[in-house]
Amino acid sequence: MVYDVIVIGGGHAGVEASLVSARMGKKTLLVTMNIEKIGAVSCNPAIGGLAKGHLVKEIDALGGSMGIATDANALQLRVLNASKGPAVRGSRAQIDMDRYAIYQRSACLNEPDLDIIQDMVESLIIDGQECKGVTTELDIEYRAKKVIIASGTFLNGITHIGFKQSQSGRIGEFSSKGLGDNLRELGFDVGRLKTGTTPRIDAKSINFDTLDAHGGDEKPVAFSFRTKSSFNLTQIPCYIGYTNSSTHTIIESNFDRAPLFSGQIEGVGPRYCPSIEDKVNRFADRDRHQLFIEPQTSEATEYYINGMSTSLPTDVQIKMVQSIQGLESAKIVRFGYAIEYDYVNPTELIHTLETKKIKSLYLAGQINGTTGYEEAAAQGLMAGINAVLSIDNKEPFILRRDEAYIGVLIDDLVTKGTKEPYRMFTSRAEYRLLLRESNADQRLSHYGYKFGLVSDEFMNRLNLKIESIKKGIEFLTNRYMTPSKVNIKFLNSINEEKIADKTSYLNIVSRSSFSIDKLDLLNDMFKSMDIETKEEISIDAKYYRYIQKQQTQIDKMKQLLKVKIPQNFDFSSISGLSNEVVEKFNTYNPPTLFEASNISGVTPAAIDILHMNIEIQRRREL
Ligand code: FAD
Repeated sequence: MVYDVIVIGGGHAGVEASLVSARMGKKTLLVTMNIEKIGAVSCNPAIGGLAKGHLVKEIDALGGSMGIATDANALQLRVLNASKGPAVRGSRAQIDMDRYAIYQRSACLNEPDLDIIQDMVESLIIDGQECKGVTTELDIEYRAKKVIIASGTFLNGITHIGFKQSQSGRIGEFSSKGLGDNLRELGFDVGRLKTGTTPRIDAKSINFDTLDAHGGDEKPVAFSFRTKSSFNLTQIPCYIGYTNSSTHTIIESNFDRAPLFSGQIEGVGPRYCPSIEDKVNRFADRDRHQLFIEPQTSEATEYYINGMSTSLPTDVQIKMVQSIQGLESAKIVRFGYAIEYDYVNPTELIHTLETKKIKSLYLAGQINGTTGYEEAAAQGLMAGINAVLSIDNKEPFILRRDEAYIGVLIDDLVTKGTKEPYRMFTSRAEYRLLLRESNADQRLSHYGYKFGLVSDEFMNRLNLKIESIKKGIEFLTNRYMTPSKVNIKFLNSINEEKIADKTSYLNIVSRSSFSIDKLDLLNDMFKSMDIETKEEISIDAKYYRYIQKQQTQIDKMKQLLKVKIPQNFDFSSISGLSNEVVEKFNTYNPPTLFEASNISGVTPAAIDILHMNIEIQRRREL
């Protein structure tokens, strides 16, 4: 049978890609090495976090599955940075890792237009410069119009524990050699990256009495905009522990046995998520490092030591774990390990995640040099949508940097590439005040609806919310309060500073002292609104000027990108552009600044310089 779309790999990217493709009506096949591992979390049993929470909310707003699966299997929910500004808050969920995987596997198996086969793809079927299907280890050929590779850490994966190495994609799972080699043969720019995970501990061997419990939020907020508001959760605590001088001595005295330092590991690791041996080496002056001891399932029989990723030998792992207060008698159930794997330089891709070299071939997830479940899922969703749109000869779906973190992620990857595992940070987004977790539905669900991934019922509810927010902000901007006796008394009664001049309601609401519940006292219209709607009004009011400023910058940028580049423009005469950028401009001859900005390696600064020079030439010619 010929499929519309084949997805290789049932990890976080593969799940989103295959579900979205099938839900958009395309006959889809998911080929994955082990059905039981569909949706498996390879490392920590948690979804979200700073900036990653944004990605999950955006995936959810577009109609993806990660948010719903997280809510259904959450053990604990927290909003990180809750005391900071709304732009940098990040939702994080501790999840039951086993049930999360079962949930995602069931979602895939229940999807009517999605077939699943347990097999390993060995190579791609290429005809001319187009991908037409895959060949598997069981010598079966599957044909399709589009193929998405979402192979994670599995291509030529090598795991390391001390000097012991084995060829595996995760410990205990096969490495995928054929497909990795095939990509090299096809001429892709393939590199090596590295990541690692921590030891996991038998709960009955932990002395919890000596550890500080770390609970979830008092009122946990669901991840998905589609989870019912009656969301209720019995939360399981995590625990906090610390390394100490004796842990550090154990690690330091075994540096010579660390694959990370012995030259055994060549791949570049995630700078922002270093192993414990790396932390002890780089921050030698620190006398302790914080650890979070996190349950892996609702039974809480096994704990993950977040912050202790390591590939040190097993005897060292045992000693260093047992040097920690509360873990003196700890028994390791699974040892920590590092893994090296092939990735494809994402500058090989266009913004739809289709490869430039081979038509109809898309790459999504860790294979593109990213790290993290959320980054992977976001790419899977976008690759799936774009594969379907391409089959239907429709416009590609590309999110701009000012629209979504997903837009920032993909733009960073395909224009700049990456030489180390890429993870999302709020600092990567220029317009982060506009790209809040809380307004992902307002920003993106209309796209999901257009693609048939978001229901009528959800969209109707969202439209009502958007309308209420608009009305609320209009009311606050157009209404003014005078310093009359009645008004001063009113402000006093709600513990607000009095006003000296005529002041807009917006200015009063924008005060940090003006809490959301006070909105109800300004006008009855607020009383009928739900808390999420009022929160959005409050944020929009508090950051009104900054939001307007960012919006103006975006409008200016949109205008700028429309600027035409004169034919035969002499790029080499521009000082300030690197030779590489000049060469790319000469090769692609972009007709506008928009096309120029989409060329990989072309930075916003290069666009500014080019724009300035186009203007200088235009004025000279006047
Ligand atoms: P994966 O989740 O890896 O899924 C890939 C899937 O493809 C698997 O199901 C596999 O069976 C299948 N597959 C591969 N090749 C083939 C083939 N040829 N044919 C058929 N099926 C195939 N992320 C973090 O953010 N922080 C961390 O600290 C962290 N540590 C990690 C530690 C380890 C040891 C590992 C393995 C991963 C770690 N990660 C970490 C990364 C995280 O697991 C990934 O970012 C995420 O799972 C990537 O999702 P994915 O869908 O791209 O691939």
